[in-house]
Amino acid sequence: MSKKKVKKFYLVKGFKDILPEDQLHWEFVRSKFFNVARSYGYDRIDLPILEDSKLFVKGVGNLTDVVSKEMFTFETLGNEKVSLRPEGTTGTVRAYIEHGMVNRKKPVKMFYMGPMFRYDKPQAGRYRQFYQFGLEVFAEEDPIIDSQMIYMTYQLFDELKIPVVIKINSIGCPKCREKFLKTLKDYLKKNKSKLCKDCQIRYNKNILRVLDCKEKKCREIVLEAPQILDHLCDDCNKHFVKVLEYLEDSQINYELDPFIVRGLDYYNRTTFEVLPTEEFCGGDSGSQNALAGGGRYDYLVKNLGGQSTPAIGMAFGMDRIVNALKKVKDLELSNINTSDVFVAQLGDKARKKVLVLFEKLRRAGFSISESISKTSLGQQLEEANRLKTRLALIIGEKELLDKTVLIRDMESGNQEVVPENKIESVLELRLKSLDISVKKVRMR
Ligand SMILES: [Zn+2]
Ligand SMILES: [Zn+2]
Repeated sequence: MSKKKVKKFYLVKGFKDILPEDQLHWEFVRSKFFNVARSYGYDRIDLPILEDSKLFVKGVGNLTDVVSKEMFTFETLGNEKVSLRPEGTTGTVRAYIEHGMVNRKKPVKMFYMGPMFRYDKPQAGRYRQFYQFGLEVFAEEDPIIDSQMIYMTYQLFDELKIPVVIKINSIGCPKCREKFLKTLKDYLKKNKSKLCKDCQIRYNKNILRVLDCKEKKCREIVLEAPQILDHLCDDCNKHFVKVLEYLEDSQINYELDPFIVRGLDYYNRTTFEVLPTEEFCGGDSGSQNALAGGGRYDYLVKNLGGQSTPAIGMAFGMDRIVNALKKVKDLELSNINTSDVFVAQLGDKARKKVLVLFEKLRRAGFSISESISKTSLGQQLEEANRLKTRLALIIGEKELLDKTVLIRDMESGNQEVVPENKIESVLELRLKSLDISVKKVRMR
């Protein structure tokens, strides 16, 4: 054997593992998302993480930070230029057009969940692969859809017990925006030298983005800037008034915020962001990163080659939500690592038996667990306790000979001996009497 040291491998910078012990929180968030999305009539779509780079350049905008600085772009062996998706909306629109969804029953509602990739500066809680859950509604312009999306988002965070405020704005349509941008440009002109380096560039190329710069010196200038809400055209104004009107009696915590312009080019009219309340963040407004955000993109489908189709969508930052969830005190995570029945064995022959019995009961629909590699009964029952199992089945030498199974109630300690061929019906009865319904196929 050579004594050469074997090279160890580590995560690529900016990437992370989601370990088994973290999955309880992730699963909780995922299941809430699925539940809400399905209730509100969204169908799941799974998209590839790789798309033609041009799709994002055209869809998200080549002047946005996301496309100009943060995309993972490379050439395949077949010389195709592709990018890892930095967000989910553009791919969904591509699929909407490609599969002729314009002919489907309207509105077309879809949700997705999965990793996104941005070559961002890695910092606490920010990774180059992060996870988003997203909702998209196509072919509906009615402002009630905007309000409903905001309303259901608020309810979702309420269920997650993360107190949030939803900041809402309208950035109008190209028609009203053109006028506003001129006004904004005039105002910023006199302060141009005081803006940060990025905003100097934005001033010329994408001036609206100056409004959501996080630099302190830019924020101070922007506070006094003209507001887009005062410059909406009649149609955009009517639309926005309706969005707010539908939310009026909803008792959700929202505010108007003229600086919510979002970082991507495709947005128009309603835009919104969801932030944890300052109180929840412990007064640290620096940690007030948006947990979710979205808006209308009525022109994107057409821009990417489809028919003119109004649309609205939003994405939830799952990593941040999971982090926030860990701060929630009275959270009752439905423990997925529990079972109703535990199968234990004593002796090698019994082990063989348990191997088969376990599978039989699993197929019968029992929520079941084992620790078959352990030889000590004590250790096995310890595991049963850890999983909060109510009934333990024990098979030892004697049971093998008699073709029986010992059932122990893990709480009372009561035991009974049951013939092997009756085990299923007896288990069902015992669980029922304990008010535990036999879980046929455990939905997650
Ligand atoms: Zn307008
Ligand atoms: Zn700036």
